[in-house]
Amino acid sequence: MSLIIQKFGGDALGDKGKGRRSDDSDLSGASLHVEKFRHVAEIARATQARGHQVVVVVSAMGDTTNRLLRMAAALSANPPARELDMLMSTGEQQSIALLAIAIESLGGRAMSFTGPQVGIRTDSVFGRSRIREIACDSLKRAVADGFIPIVAGFQGLTEEGQITTLGRGGSDITAVALAAALEADMCEFYKDVDGIFTTDPRVCRGARPIDRICYDEMLELASLGADVLHSRSVEFAKNYNVPLHVRSFLHDGEGTYVVPEEPAMEDIVVRGVAFNRDEAKIAFQGVPDRPGIAAEIFQGIGEAGIVVDMIVQSSAYDGSNDVSFTVGKNDFRRAEDVAQKLNERIGARKIVTDESICKVSAVGVGMRSHSNVAARMFKALSDAGINIQMISTSEIKISVAIAESELERAVQAVHEAFAEDREFATMEEKTN
Ligand code: ASP
Ligand code: MG
Repeated sequence: MSLIIQKFGGDALGDKGKGRRSDDSDLSGASLHVEKFRHVAEIARATQARGHQVVVVVSAMGDTTNRLLRMAAALSANPPARELDMLMSTGEQQSIALLAIAIESLGGRAMSFTGPQVGIRTDSVFGRSRIREIACDSLKRAVADGFIPIVAGFQGLTEEGQITTLGRGGSDITAVALAAALEADMCEFYKDVDGIFTTDPRVCRGARPIDRICYDEMLELASLGADVLHSRSVEFAKNYNVPLHVRSFLHDGEGTYVVPEEPAMEDIVVRGVAFNRDEAKIAFQGVPDRPGIAAEIFQGIGEAGIVVDMIVQSSAYDGSNDVSFTVGKNDFRRAEDVAQKLNERIGARKIVTDESICKVSAVGVGMRSHSNVAARMFKALSDAGINIQMISTSEIKISVAIAESELERAVQAVHEAFAEDREFATMEEKTN
């Protein structure tokens, strides 16, 4: 018998979008919710009926968390952080009770648990707390007694007894943390997508589902803007070796397994192509080429609380350098101001900025054992007539900054360049 954690997000419980509809012609919001809860209840029940132990983690229904935040914002420009957590945590509390009721109504046995009732201990940073420990005795007892425990994601309790939340999208983290604490065999994520794709299908029609991907690749894809799983939950899974399974709540297609790296994974050069529109560029052109300049620039930017992503320095051999970097679009105006101030001391010839850039990245552990990956990516971009403004690499990723207007074409070009390899690699695997 295996223990499976099943996580259902807001989409699986919401009143909008895709969902299994009843034949009821009058589908008011509430009845669609009812259908969704029943459907989720059936999935959990069916898993239990196959002989598994099941613990379910849920988010708030649909847009609930945003709606609660809008109400708080309407009352105050600066609501106390403690009260926001108190407020937001109610969204998940509705979901657990409704799902437990749905399971019971189908003849199953379920019991809802808030984060504090489970014993999810966090630090005391409201709005983005981190889990410190989980006492899972109560859950274990419920499972042993044949119940399906339904746990509220996204919330915990501090040492002092305050309710906290883990940061937006944090139910994923709860699910993986519980899987680690309970030593579950699998943590399943039920989504309104079929799994993880080689790139975003909305941007590239050639995008295909990935069967298996390792944590490091998933982390790169997640933090590079492929927002299927919360990146902190993937980190957690990696640290505790929790296998993840991303799949659809609409059908039982295979989905994607996120697992520890396997030797055969290096056969595929590029697992996926990610992109991020949230980039803006600032360049100090013609800065004096002497020690300490880079330190001065990035200390100044860092002290302003601005996170820098890519950095490029190029020297002109005339005693001057260009230093360029990217920041998130939200930080752009501020970064520009800080740069102008810093330049009173640094004395660059000029500061050039560009708010409409984006980043496209190829990711894959296969890069470690294949040469020429960068050249192939750059060739694909140049064949498409796309100019590369910046490059950064790690062991398993190559990223380029390009004009935002060329994002779609760039993703397609890079994806196509490596898509053929994939087929080749899969064919090889099949004949072996
Ligand atoms: N309900 C929370 C949010 O919307 C947590 C989650 O959905 O994972 O951010
Ligand atoms: Mg949500």
